[in-house]
Amino acid sequence: RVPTLAIVGRPNVGKSTLVNRIIARREAVVQDIPGVTRDRVSYDALWRGRRFTVVDTGGWEPKVDGLQAAVALQAEYAMKTSDAVLVVVDAMVGATETDEAIARVLRRSKKPVILVANKVDDERAVSDAAQLWNLGLGEPFAVSALHGRGSGDLLDIILDKL
Ligand code: GDP
Ligand code: MG
Repeated sequence: RVPTLAIVGRPNVGKSTLVNRIIARREAVVQDIPGVTRDRVSYDALWRGRRFTVVDTGGWEPKVDGLQAAVALQAEYAMKTSDAVLVVVDAMVGATETDEAIARVLRRSKKPVILVANKVDDERAVSDAAQLWNLGLGEPFAVSALHGRGSGDLLDIILDKL
């Protein structure tokens, strides 16, 4: 059986960009405008000879009102249907109310959770690391999905958790 990694996070944090990094192809649709419908959610990934499936939950069309409820539902579903969950936050923005809503769900997860602080294009890009620690999801792992910074190390961590 091929293990599944779900990518969760609020719109525009760089989930699809990170998916493209992880699968080493450009298939996930990156949008500057959040909330655009995308149908494709599953991608095949291969790292160090191991196969896994990446699920971009940003491709789901939320059927509930309100962003917080929608992403909390996505996190809930991801937790139930995947072997590990990767939460993406925007390090330039820091933890928002919506990130906190996602974290509340995932703190109950019995499956491995990886917290990724994206958009760390250079050392200065982390707005407040302590605030990210306060999400209660462990150590935030800094990457730049856009430039590829930290992506190899992140893939090793993913394999470790799957
Ligand atoms: P999603 O809605 O979470 O899937 O986010 P997208 O992957 O569509 O990205 C949203 C925007 O953030 C796009 O304009 C991306 O180019 C940008 N972005 C994604 N990753 C990075 C990054 O590491 N650094 C910077 N500076 N921008 C990024
Ligand atoms: Mg997306």
